[in-house]
Amino acid sequence: MIRINENFTKLKASYLFSDIARRVSSYVAANPTKPVIRLGIGDVTEPLPPVCVEALHAGADEMARRETFKGYGPEQGYAFLREAIAQHDYTARGCAIQADEIFVSDGSKCDCGNIQEIFAADIRLAIPDPVYPVYVDTNVMAGRTGANVDGRYQGITYLESTPENGYVPGVPNAAADLIYLCFPNNPTGAVATKAQLTEWVRYAKKNHAVVLFDSAYEAYIRNPEIPHSIYEIEGAREVAIEFRSFSKTAGFTGTRCAYTVVPKSLMGYDAAGNAHSLHALWTRRHTTKFNGVAYPIQKAAAAIYTDAGKQQTRALIDFYLANARLIREAMTKLGFKCIGGDNAPYIWVNTGRDSWEFFDLLLNQAQVVCTPGAGFGKCGEGHVRISAFNSRENVETALQRIAQALK
Ligand code: PLP
Repeated sequence: MIRINENFTKLKASYLFSDIARRVSSYVAANPTKPVIRLGIGDVTEPLPPVCVEALHAGADEMARRETFKGYGPEQGYAFLREAIAQHDYTARGCAIQADEIFVSDGSKCDCGNIQEIFAADIRLAIPDPVYPVYVDTNVMAGRTGANVDGRYQGITYLESTPENGYVPGVPNAAADLIYLCFPNNPTGAVATKAQLTEWVRYAKKNHAVVLFDSAYEAYIRNPEIPHSIYEIEGAREVAIEFRSFSKTAGFTGTRCAYTVVPKSLMGYDAAGNAHSLHALWTRRHTTKFNGVAYPIQKAAAAIYTDAGKQQTRALIDFYLANARLIREAMTKLGFKCIGGDNAPYIWVNTGRDSWEFFDLLLNQAQVVCTPGAGFGKCGEGHVRISAFNSRENVETALQRIAQALK
């Protein structure tokens, strides 16, 4: 009799997006003449930058000719892309990251889900609340938690992001071995200052811990004081792994390309206390289970680092940030305390009431879909996430309708 991995049975079914879809479709069925605007999704709406499309075409043409055809490429990514990343995302910011410390992949979701495989089963976890659910669920699947009791898994130290701490949790009193951080944050849109990240790096150093830093939204940072990379913090090369994605930087959610940085100076320990290179472990894991991103896709990703590519991606992000500013201003004007939207595509609205109740109110009175904060964790209760990923016209119409409904 084949036995299952029973850790999967501990997973609390995520009803968030299916619940939203169900409520929206029943509203649409009952009100066919009232078009609904979706400001709930975390997916981009604008097409790829022209430089990426040109590179995709050129890459496809190379695959069509015997002389330039490519079969399997290096699992960690082609040197042209790894070198462009190292130069433009790190060296240019004063971070000492080398091309061979970069692992190109088909997405940050996979990377931040898979990374836990290189750590022991009994490590202590610290994970934010509210949170991008992948960090928690992949550790549940791996058996690092107990049961879900009252919406929280036993054995996890939850790092609470609340109005009191400005939605940026400080270091916990308890010792943790593996700490997940995400800035700019999904879902809150909060960013961490250099001082706040320095505190985390010091904590990790003291506890021989590792920080997993998800900076999928770093391209949205406009405040020059806010670090884009954890490696801008002194000592981070010894304690941190960083995840980056082209998904929100250049509209690659359907194209699929991302990367993970594992510095060679980062160590983990066996039961006898001997140090092991995490770079070596991740190289082994990555090359055993992954066969590289398609060549034309890597060409398209590298095109982002050309002058024209930088200009076009900046314009794309500026467009979403202008949507975000409109949303934040409108919600603030209606009397809600908001965070995010200035260095992130998400606005986290403190609704002062049950988050599903507020969701229903916006859907029924304004035909606007947001995401109830409770779906991202206990601390998300009382909040909703509004996303800036939409057309200007839809954002403006949605905001007029919300103002009308809530006045
Ligand atoms: N990390 C965070 C915080 C995200 O919000 C997302 C996507 O929504 C990802 C990672 C996944 O990105 P990718 O499209 O590269 O898998």
